[in-house]
Amino acid sequence: VWARCLDIIRKETSDQSYKTWFEPIVPLRVVNDTLTIQVPSQFFFEWLEENYVHVLRLAIDATLGVNGMLEYSIIVDKGDRKNPPIAYNVPNQKQTVPAPKPKPNQPEPNIYHSPFQLKDLDSLELDSYLNPHYTFDNFVEGDCNRLGRSAGLAVAERPGVTSFNPLMIYGGVGLGKTHLVQAIGNYIKDRYDNKFVLYVSSEKFTNQFINAIRNNTLQAFTNFYLHVDVLILDDVQFLAGKEKTQETFFHIFNHLHQSGKQIIMSSDRSPRELQGMQDRLLSRFKWGLTADLQQPDFETRIAIIQKKLQSDGIYIEDKVIEYLAHSIDTNVRELEGVIVSLMAHASLNRREIDMDLARATLKNIVIDNEKEVTVDNILDAVTNHFDIDLSELKSKSRKRETVFPRQVAMYLMKEFTNLPLKSIGYHFGGRDHSTVIHAVQTVSEMIEQDKDVEKTMQTLYRRFNRVRSKAE
Ligand code: ADP
Ligand code: MG
Repeated sequence: VWARCLDIIRKETSDQSYKTWFEPIVPLRVVNDTLTIQVPSQFFFEWLEENYVHVLRLAIDATLGVNGMLEYSIIVDKGDRKNPPIAYNVPNQKQTVPAPKPKPNQPEPNIYHSPFQLKDLDSLELDSYLNPHYTFDNFVEGDCNRLGRSAGLAVAERPGVTSFNPLMIYGGVGLGKTHLVQAIGNYIKDRYDNKFVLYVSSEKFTNQFINAIRNNTLQAFTNFYLHVDVLILDDVQFLAGKEKTQETFFHIFNHLHQSGKQIIMSSDRSPRELQGMQDRLLSRFKWGLTADLQQPDFETRIAIIQKKLQSDGIYIEDKVIEYLAHSIDTNVRELEGVIVSLMAHASLNRREIDMDLARATLKNIVIDNEKEVTVDNILDAVTNHFDIDLSELKSKSRKRETVFPRQVAMYLMKEFTNLPLKSIGYHFGGRDHSTVIHAVQTVSEMIEQDKDVEKTMQTLYRRFNRVRSKAE
């Protein structure tokens, strides 16, 4: 059974995750449709439940059927982790299932029943509520996010009353937009019993809208949103070019705003750069406050790492923390990813997180920020990947087979080099900066919308030993 599960899991996860999280699992037995697997540590168990529960469920579903259950046997950690395990959630119809608290000093093996029921798979898809892990308390403040954080807090304290309505948070991938907007939501939910706070990603909103049209339930859809007291719409750039969705959102926005309801939005670019968005909607965004999140500086990265370690009850030497903060300066998500891998390796090999382990792990995670990606690297990779000549790539040709690789090359240069747009254009027969902007925009949109393009980009990133952080 487990072998078949693994086949399924392998298809659903990346190689890296598969190796880290699934290969170490030892299948123990199957009794009465219950599969028992042995995992190396408490941390491991929590991580699986937190991140791979739906993958596991898929696998169980396919092998044991809908009544299949999963049970974990946990090898007790030798390390003395002070803190209780991180609470984990299995998204469920409306609330989260509380974690079964392990009893202290239980003899091994500790058995935990996974609380998931197979019917939850659908609601997992539909769940658009807040994740209680995102709070202000664990959102580290730094110069990079001070305005956004304090504006967020002001809104959280007095939703709909401040002039920060709407509040628009923008910033690059992995810089904390979702965390911050959800922290606002959680804060309000905690303090105002009677306020209906709703978090929804723009993608989900769009899908709901499309379904409503298809099922002739547009009225119900709109009505539902008109009842919200605090609407949090994440990643509004996703609405770009979706005229009808924007129209409906415009209607909802106006209604909520007029009734003094709070609107909070996030976007991966500033309203000024949001192309494909109706002007009337953009002008509404400007009614409130717009604040950006920037890349955290070294000190903030240190603080973020410390916070994360502290919340997981793990101790690492300062010099290792500094090494990590120094090596990963892209975004917070990558920083966290590295820490998590470190913890996994440490718990798997039952060793301390020291400099050696940190070095080895970083090398594995293929983030190599020491080595700069050069223009030549990019041209090499792109011509190679798409199998076209450099002269063709640099030419004025408007053939489709050439235009896309050229746009990709521009996108990568913008991403990896510090070249001004004009100089990027210069490498392609002296095109001007607006051509470059257009290229970057086109490619980012295609990455979002087209799985193949996303794969292509991931392949290219890998050539530079970079990980493409996924926009959520
Ligand atoms: P975005 O939505 O901008 O792509 P997220 O909000 O998903 O980014 O943040 C990525 C990860 O980094 C999350 O796990 C989040 O908790 C963490 N993170 C981002 N900023 C901070 C911060 N200032 N303090 C603590 N954690 C942060
Ligand atoms: Mg996000």
